[in-house]
Amino acid sequence: MAAHRLVRAGWRVLLLERGDPVPRGPRCAEPSATLEFMPCRDSRSAYRVDSGGRVGSVAGTTCLGGLSVFFGAAAVRWREADFVADPETADRSGACWPFRYTDLEPYYTEAERLLGVAGDDATDPTRPPRSAPFPQRPAPLFAVSEWLRHAILDAGATPTPLPLAINYDSSNGRTACTFCRHCDTFACAIGAKNDVETAVLAPMTGRGLDVRTGAVVTSLAASNGRVTGVRGWDKANQRPFEHAARHVVLAAGALASPHLLLASGFDRLHPSGRAIGRFLTRHCAAIVEGFCNFRPDPEKVFHKQLLVLDYYFGDPRAREAPGQPLGSIQQLTTPPHLLMKAHMPRFLQQVPLHGFVEHLSGLLVMAEDEPQARNGVTVDRSDVDPYGMPRLHVSHRYSGRDLERRRLLVRRAKRILRRGGAWSFYTLDIETFSHALGTVRMGANGEAPLDGDCRLRGLQNLLVVDGSALPTSAGLNPGLTIAANALRAADRLVDADSR
Ligand SMILES: Cc1cc2nc3c(=O)[nH]c(=O)nc-3n(C[C@H](O)[C@H](O)[C@H](O)COP(=O)(O)OP(=O)(O)OC[C@H]3O[C@@H](n4cnc5c(N)ncnc54)[C@H](O)[C@@H]3O)c2cc1C
Ligand code: SF4
Repeated sequence: MAAHRLVRAGWRVLLLERGDPVPRGPRCAEPSATLEFMPCRDSRSAYRVDSGGRVGSVAGTTCLGGLSVFFGAAAVRWREADFVADPETADRSGACWPFRYTDLEPYYTEAERLLGVAGDDATDPTRPPRSAPFPQRPAPLFAVSEWLRHAILDAGATPTPLPLAINYDSSNGRTACTFCRHCDTFACAIGAKNDVETAVLAPMTGRGLDVRTGAVVTSLAASNGRVTGVRGWDKANQRPFEHAARHVVLAAGALASPHLLLASGFDRLHPSGRAIGRFLTRHCAAIVEGFCNFRPDPEKVFHKQLLVLDYYFGDPRAREAPGQPLGSIQQLTTPPHLLMKAHMPRFLQQVPLHGFVEHLSGLLVMAEDEPQARNGVTVDRSDVDPYGMPRLHVSHRYSGRDLERRRLLVRRAKRILRRGGAWSFYTLDIETFSHALGTVRMGANGEAPLDGDCRLRGLQNLLVVDGSALPTSAGLNPGLTIAANALRAADRLVDADSR
């Protein structure tokens, strides 16, 4: 996204990506092509999860377009209040947004345009103001979504179309979505999902943007308050590389960006460097599957179509903690049975699941988690990976408040599914770092590693513009906010450079 803004301003941009493009085509829709089982993970530089989720060695996803290639396409603006860290959070963690929703609004509009977001927020009870309509209308609701819509209404809540970065238009020279069931955690076989590779990088490549894949950046060099070069390893040619640049924009994700900064010793450049790698947030999320006597999705289609935001700022009718913000609830498409199997207790993995899975209908609950100084990443300099980088360690523990919010949301998700006829439930807490944020956060005060323009304090020409820059996690998917903030930071860079 930052590259897009810079190329539009006439800059020449070299994009260094450690992974390769994900090949598209029918194989993407095979159950085994889900991110869980995909080979686009680089085990040579696996990081260690010391606490939080599945403890052990985890190979990060590396591909052109990043996690957006496999994302679930939900492209939701955060709410106005999300940019004012609530006093409880701010007091404990020092999180402080350097701008407000109104400052980001034009960039949300631009990000929605670039990602071709389809949506309609007329019924959204918490919708923030917008300066332009959504670029596309949402697809009509399928039978399963109509069924869920009624269940949500019966539960006293408001069904809202979930904004999606998916192409529904076949008149624009692109292939329109065929509503297959392999979207979330899969790369789109036909290129209808508007991921960053498909919708942003491909149209720019060769027009000011030079993309080098298989280029593992291993460190940044600096002197006299400026980054002087980027060093790394060229996987195809098996040799090191080095590039000099007037400006460097780091967008390696909320685990890999602090990894690079710590490996480069940039935590020692400015007192705020102490916070690099800390305050990791990841949402406190869970999937709730309801079992029905009937098959909720007889058409067997993609049906991630509805969003519930009635509890985002608290549930006024709740007996416990009525004013406590909880987060969002989103519809989920029935997952492939192989994926379900992988997450089942071992004794259930022997059971033939295909028929069983068709009786499930799922909701994703997503609660904001607190930024805490103890949560984050560190490097172990005594353990060096084959690229010469110190091993990354990740540790995270939810606070009692995080877990409570999720518990209350799970209860509301079950109520909705129960209204639709589900009578038994299976809840899976999400333990991955797929929504990692906050590890190189921006802030108006000098304690945050990034200033309000996403510039690393202590260096004049290094921006960090991925999820690590966001000081709090809100209760909604992060992708569109990361995209809008990257456009904003690049815009500020172009402005500052032209002065
Ligand atoms: C299965 C799944 C579903 C999701 N669904 C949604 C959703 O529906 N909506 C939503 O908003 N969000 C969703 N997310 C989250 C969203 O995809 C991420 O928040 C977002 O992509 C993060 O963007 P980023 O720029 O911070 O980092 P990334 O997308 O991780 O991009 C970082 C890039 O840097 C590259 N890189 C890393 N290290 C190096 C290095 N040393 N040298 C060179 N290159 C490097 C990586 O290969 C990658 O391409 C989902 C995530 C997953 C995994
Ligand atoms: S649902 Fe549509 S966008 Fe998603 S993978 Fe299938 S065809 Fe692609």
